[in-house]
Amino acid sequence: MSAKDMTRRRFLRTTAAGTTGISLAGPTIFAAAAASESAKPAILGGKPLRTGKSPSWPVIGEGDDEAWTNVFHARKWFNDTVVQEFEAKYAALTGTKFCVATNGGTTALQTSLVAVGVGPGDEVLVPPYTFVATVNVVLLQFAIPVFVDTDRQTFQIDAKKLEEKITDRTRCILPVHLGGNPADMDTILAVAKKRNLPVVEDACQAHLAEWRGKKVGSLGDTGGFSFQVTKNLCSGEGGAIISNNEQLIDRCFSFHTNGRERSKAGSFSYQHSGTNVRMTEFQAALLLRGMTRVEKQSQTRSENAAHLTAQLEKIPGISPAKMYDGATRNAYHLYMFRYDKDQFAGLTRDKFMRALSAEGISCMKGYSPLNKEPFLKDTLYSRGYLNVFPRDYVDKYFKNSECPENDRLCEEAVWFTQTMFLGTKSDMDQIAEAIRRIQANAAAVAKA
Ligand SMILES: *Cc1c(COP(=O)(O)O)cnc(C)c1O
Repeated sequence: MSAKDMTRRRFLRTTAAGTTGISLAGPTIFAAAAASESAKPAILGGKPLRTGKSPSWPVIGEGDDEAWTNVFHARKWFNDTVVQEFEAKYAALTGTKFCVATNGGTTALQTSLVAVGVGPGDEVLVPPYTFVATVNVVLLQFAIPVFVDTDRQTFQIDAKKLEEKITDRTRCILPVHLGGNPADMDTILAVAKKRNLPVVEDACQAHLAEWRGKKVGSLGDTGGFSFQVTKNLCSGEGGAIISNNEQLIDRCFSFHTNGRERSKAGSFSYQHSGTNVRMTEFQAALLLRGMTRVEKQSQTRSENAAHLTAQLEKIPGISPAKMYDGATRNAYHLYMFRYDKDQFAGLTRDKFMRALSAEGISCMKGYSPLNKEPFLKDTLYSRGYLNVFPRDYVDKYFKNSECPENDRLCEEAVWFTQTMFLGTKSDMDQIAEAIRRIQANAAAVAKA
C-alpha cells in the first residue's frame, strides 16, 4: 500500500472514530459494543452506530497517474506494448498460459462463447442468480439460456442439477463464481467431461478466487473476467479471457479484433468473422498498476470477511453464504448472507435493510429472479428467435424454467459490497453489532 493510501485510510478511520466517539483501541470497541447492544436503533431515533465511510473506490495509488500519462504522452493509445504486458502478467497471475484483453467482461464472455462454438439454436446452462450479462451473452448468440436452480447455501449454481437440464441442444456450461465464491467446479467439470461439453467460467466477480488451489477462470475451457469499475480489479471498463488452450485463444483473439490472425496480429489477414472489443493502452496501464495492489487487497477482504462471518454465524436468522469444500479462496466481491425474518420478530427484509442503513451500514438486496425477467419473453418471441427456435419449443421453455430455490433466495439475500471489506476489523465489529442491535429491538423496529 502506498503512503498516500495509508494516510487516507488513517484519516477515514480517525474521522469515523471521532464522530462516533469510539476509541480506536481494540478492547474499548468491544466494551462499547457490549454496552450498546440493546441501545436504541438509529431507525427509532437512536444514534447511528457508524458514521464513518467505507474506504473509497477505485483506489488511486502512487504512480498511477504517471503510468496513465505515460501512455497519453507516448501517443500510443491503441493496442501496443502495455496491453501485451498486461496480457502476459494477467496470464501469470491466474496461472494460465494465455490471455486476451477485451474492453469488458460481457465481451470477454461473448467472445468465449463464440470460440467454443455456441451459436443459433444451441442451449447454454446458466445459473439464474447472476448479473444479467451472463444471460445476455447467450442471447447475443441467438442461443437459449437454460436455468439450473441455485444452491441457497452457497448462492451458486446447483451443480447436482446440471445433468437433468442437458438436452441434444446443450452446447456449453456457463457457471458463475458469484460474489467471488467459487462454484462447485469438481461436479461441473465431471459433468462437462462425461457429456463432452465445454465450460466457460464467468469469473467476472472472482479475481484471485481459487478452487483447490487453482485460480478460478483457469479450470474451464476459458474464463472471463471484468474490470468494470466496481470489480475487485478495475479500469473503468475492461475485461480478459484466460485459457490454457491455444486453439481457443487463437479463436478468441481473432473474434475480438475483426477476425485477424493472432500470429499476424497487426495485419489485414482475416481468418474468421469477428468484432472489435479490444482493450486500450490506457485501461491496461491502470490494470498493471492495480495488479500491484490486488493480492494485498484480496487478503484484507478475506481477513475481514472471516472476522465478520465468525460473528454473524452466531446470530440466529443470519446465514452467511457457505463455501464448497473445494473452494480454497473466496474473492469476496460481495459478502452475501441470507436473512430469516422469523428470527427478527417478523421484521421484513426491506425494513431490516433500512434499519441497517440507518446505522450507517449500506447493504443491497441483490438480484431478482433472472429467469422471470420480462425481457426474456420479448427476446425469445422475437422474429429473429422464432426463425431459429420453433414456437412450441419456446412455449415449453418458459413452462420449464422454474427455479424455486432461487426464487426463495432472492427473497432472503442481503449483500455488502467489496469496498467495505478493505477497512478494519472494527468496521466488521460495527456491522455485527448493528445487526444484533436491530435483532434485540426487532419487534419495535417492525412496528415503526
Ligand atoms: C460485471 C459482470 C459481468 C459483465 O462485465 P462487464 O465488464 O460489466 O461487461 C458479467 N458477469 C458477471 C457475473 C458480472 O458481475
